[in-house]
Amino acid sequence: MNIRHSSRAVMMMALVWASGLTAQPIQLEKLEKKTILLFSPHPDDDTFCCAGTLALLAKRANNIHIFIYTNDDKGSYDPEMTSERLGRIRKAEEEEACRIVGIPKENIHWLQFHDGMLEYASPRDLVEQVTKIIRAYRPDVVLSIDPGSEYVRWHKTDHRMSANNTMDAIRAAEWHLYFPNQRLHDGLAPWKVPMEALFYVTPKDANYWVNVDDVFDVKLAASLAHVSQWEPAIRKYRVDWDPKELDALKQKLKARAPKKDGHFVEAFRIRGRFNQP
Ligand SMILES: [Zn+2]
Repeated sequence: MNIRHSSRAVMMMALVWASGLTAQPIQLEKLEKKTILLFSPHPDDDTFCCAGTLALLAKRANNIHIFIYTNDDKGSYDPEMTSERLGRIRKAEEEEACRIVGIPKENIHWLQFHDGMLEYASPRDLVEQVTKIIRAYRPDVVLSIDPGSEYVRWHKTDHRMSANNTMDAIRAAEWHLYFPNQRLHDGLAPWKVPMEALFYVTPKDANYWVNVDDVFDVKLAASLAHVSQWEPAIRKYRVDWDPKELDALKQKLKARAPKKDGHFVEAFRIRGRFNQP
């Protein structure tokens, strides 16, 4: 059974309003030849949240660009590790994960903030920067962290800033009086993002589930490309896997992977119209 059609209620919730007047049911994973931007706080959130969906979209000739706020240069318990070295490792791991998913490294864009420091960047400058990206690429879909629908969610640092900042930039990009310098000097017209697919959702907020059965192995391989983020490399860095440890982690990840109606899934909240949850 196709999980997307498991109930009428789910279908109704998955309706996305592509224009102000006409309701168009859009199936995220069925999009073709569209421009899709994903904003990720770290070089792995894009993999962990959405590698399956991204793999499906990459197969359908979509133009996918990954924007990564920070370089993830803090997340290691290895006392011998330095931030510069870790930043290089994380960059290479992200490029490998994206290669596995089907996204070329030229489509990975680094906003170059340090890990854990995104909240201390200038909020105004950060919104302006991402607004400019949205106006320049004019995406059909933006994927980003869900800040929460009816309440302020707790997120770890970088995640909460990324969640709110991306949403604020989506809003600003639509209105020409925000950052008018972008039109004046860069020739960038306002852009209304037609579809927002928010990830890292709570079960309560999720309203759309992509069946990733066919690409689950791709997702697993991409997740495991982030070697430095898993035991044992997170404590004592090594460049590759011990086959036994790799196998054990694969089994663990498979057992823990989100499922719905017996299928591997990735959950989203597809946002509706302006100021709608
Ligand atoms: Zn993260």
